[in-house]
Amino acid sequence: MQSANHYDLIIVGAGPAGISTALHLAQIAPHLISRTLILEKARHPRPKLCAGGVLPDAEVILRRLGLDITEAAHTDVDWVHFDFNGQGMQMRAEKTGTFALRTVRRHEFDAWLAAKARQRGFLIQENTVVKRVTVSGSGVRLETDKGEYRAKVVVGADGSNSIVRQAIVTHEDLHVARVLEVVTGPLPKKSPHKEMDSYFDFVVIPQGIAGYAWDFAAVEKGKPVRVRGVYDSNIHSGKSKVPLREALAGEFRRHGLDLEDYKLEGFPIRWFDAKGTFAAPRVLLAGDAIGADAIFGEGISAALGYGGFTARAIQDAFARKDFSFGGYKRSILRSEMGKALSLRTWIARVLYAIPWPAFHAFLWRRMGWFIEWFVRAFVIGWAQRQEKHNA
Ligand SMILES: Cc1cc2nc3c(=O)[nH]c(=O)nc-3n(C[C@H](O)[C@H](O)[C@H](O)COP(=O)(O)OP(=O)(O)OC[C@H]3O[C@@H](n4cnc5c(N)ncnc54)[C@H](O)[C@@H]3O)c2cc1C
Repeated sequence: MQSANHYDLIIVGAGPAGISTALHLAQIAPHLISRTLILEKARHPRPKLCAGGVLPDAEVILRRLGLDITEAAHTDVDWVHFDFNGQGMQMRAEKTGTFALRTVRRHEFDAWLAAKARQRGFLIQENTVVKRVTVSGSGVRLETDKGEYRAKVVVGADGSNSIVRQAIVTHEDLHVARVLEVVTGPLPKKSPHKEMDSYFDFVVIPQGIAGYAWDFAAVEKGKPVRVRGVYDSNIHSGKSKVPLREALAGEFRRHGLDLEDYKLEGFPIRWFDAKGTFAAPRVLLAGDAIGADAIFGEGISAALGYGGFTARAIQDAFARKDFSFGGYKRSILRSEMGKALSLRTWIARVLYAIPWPAFHAFLWRRMGWFIEWFVRAFVIGWAQRQEKHNA
C-alpha cells in the first residue's frame, strides 16, 4: 500500500503516451498497478487539438496491448494523397489493405484509452495540474493545485509543453512545430477532394513554411467533418515569409471556403531530436515530451510506442533498484521506432530546406513510385518490424 500522496510511480499526463506506459506496465509488471498514480490536468473526454490520423503502427501496438481500435469511434480513410498544389501521388498504408489510415477525434479516442487503463486497475486522478517538479537523489516531488505528491519515479507524458521536461532540461534549442487547425463541415461541392480521402499538400513550402496544409476526412458526433490545418515544423526556424494563418486562408480560398467563418486553434508539437534529453535519474519522458515525427507531426503512434520502452525501463529499475535510467535513450534510439523517428527528422531537414516549386512538383507528381517504396521500407511499419525483430 502507498502512504498518502506517496507512490512508487507517478505518470504525469493521461494522453496516449501516459496511458500506453500504464497499459504496458499492466502486462509486464502488474504488481506496480496499485503503486502507480496517473495525474491529469483535464478530465476525459478532454479537448485535444489533433487531426487524429492514426497509422497502422499505432494499431500494431494497440493489438499487442489487447485493444482493438475499431471499438473507438473512427473513420476509415480510403486513400492518402501527397500533393503539390493539388496534384501528386496517393497511397494506402498497406498495399493490399482497403484503407490508408483511420482518423479519430482525440477527445473520444483518449477517453477510450483512459477507460482501458482504469479497467486494468490504474488510478487516474483528473483535474490535477502539476505545477512544479523537483528531482532529488531519493525521489521526485510534484507540486500540484491539489497538494503535494512524491514518487520514486516520475514519467513525464505531459505533451509538447511538458513541465516534467522543463524540470530536467534547463536549456535547449527550439524543436517545436507551429500548427493551426480548423474543423469544417463536409466538403463543399466545388472542392476537388474526395469525401473519404485525406490530403497533404506541400504547396506552402515555397512560401517559407517547412511543412504542409492538410485536409482529413473524419466523423464528429456521428456527422462527417473535415479536419484541416497547416503544419510548420519550424525546422529551419525564422525562414517563414508568410504568416501561418495567411497560408491556411489561401488553402481555404482554393477550396471555396473562407477561413474567417471558422474557429481557428493552434498548438505546438515538439519533434524528435536524437540529440535531445529523454530521461534523467528518477525521471523518464515519453510521447511529445520527447518528440513526434518531424515531417508530419505524426505523434500518436510514437506516443503509444514510447509507452513500451518506458514500461520496460520502469520494470527494470524497480527490479534492480537502480533509478538512473542510463540505458533508456539508447533503447529507443536503437529500436525500429527510434530509427524511423531519427530518419524522419533528417528527411524534414532536407525536404523543407528546398524552396523551389519545380522540385516539389517533380517529387510528388513524378517520383511517387520511389517515395512509396522508401516510405514502406523505412518510414512507416516500424512497429511490425520491431515485432519481427523481437520474435
Ligand atoms: C493540430 C495538431 C494536429 C495533429 N495531428 C496529428 C495526426 O493527425 N496524427 C498523429 O499521429 N499526431 C498528430 N498530432 C500530434 C499528436 O497530437 C501528439 O503527438 C500526441 O497527442 C502525443 O501524445 P502524448 O500523450 O505525448 O501527449 P498529449 O496527447 O498532449 O497528452 C498529454 C496529456 O498530459 C496532460 N498534461 C499536460 N500538462 C499537464 C500538467 N502540467 N499536469 C497534468 N497533466 C498535464 C494533458 O492534459 C494531456 O492529457 C497533432 C498535433 C496537433 C497539435
